[in-house]
Amino acid sequence: MLADEQIERYSRQIILPQVGGKGQEKLLRASVLLNGAGPLQETALLYLAAVGIGTIGILTDEEVGLSSVLMPESSDALTTVPQRLNPECAIVHHHGTEGHPLTALSQLARNYTLAISGPDSHLHDACYIARRPFLCVQSVGTQCWFLTCRGYDASQPCAHCVQLPTREEAPSPFVDLAALFLGAQLVTEVVKIILGLDQSAGATLVRCEFPDLRFDVQKVRKNPDCSYCGHSLSE
Ligand SMILES: [Zn+2]
Repeated sequence: MLADEQIERYSRQIILPQVGGKGQEKLLRASVLLNGAGPLQETALLYLAAVGIGTIGILTDEEVGLSSVLMPESSDALTTVPQRLNPECAIVHHHGTEGHPLTALSQLARNYTLAISGPDSHLHDACYIARRPFLCVQSVGTQCWFLTCRGYDASQPCAHCVQLPTREEAPSPFVDLAALFLGAQLVTEVVKIILGLDQSAGATLVRCEFPDLRFDVQKVRKNPDCSYCGHSLSE
């Protein structure tokens, strides 16, 4: 049961028929593992706290040197800023993982409802093993994108099934704007996954580019010849 102050805090979500009191309780019980520093991850962190995700795990291999407009000070900001926004949200830091990265990460992934990470991480494979949804994100140059992989069954694509957008670009302040814009969309997808609102097959690739504000949504199907999930599923 939600307390009175929770009903007040989340009233704008609770009145949505897709959420309601039960949905809000689900969000409060949910946990999201966030890996890597970047404008999209930082924006997501704030929105995840605001919607009432109960626990947010932050995985960093090294001391985070943040550079974005949102949290310019230090890694302390990774705890204090979201908690100021929503004191109910627990922030847990994981500094690297001991032992074999894939084994350790899949154990960690099992403790979370889903994970968000850049593409250059073992966390994707760990989530696939742990059968946890994985949202692959990247912000580079003037563009941000994310891919949602639900990865629960043989019909769902993994991130390796997809030709992910790659672009060598110099850092640009526009990437922060793209991240602000796309971060809200990313967390909407997280909420949909937690509440089971999207049962469709396939992954979704969403891209946003500034300053043109080009927005692009693509449905991605499983690649039967995928070198990763084609092989691992037959084992
Ligand atoms: Zn695949």
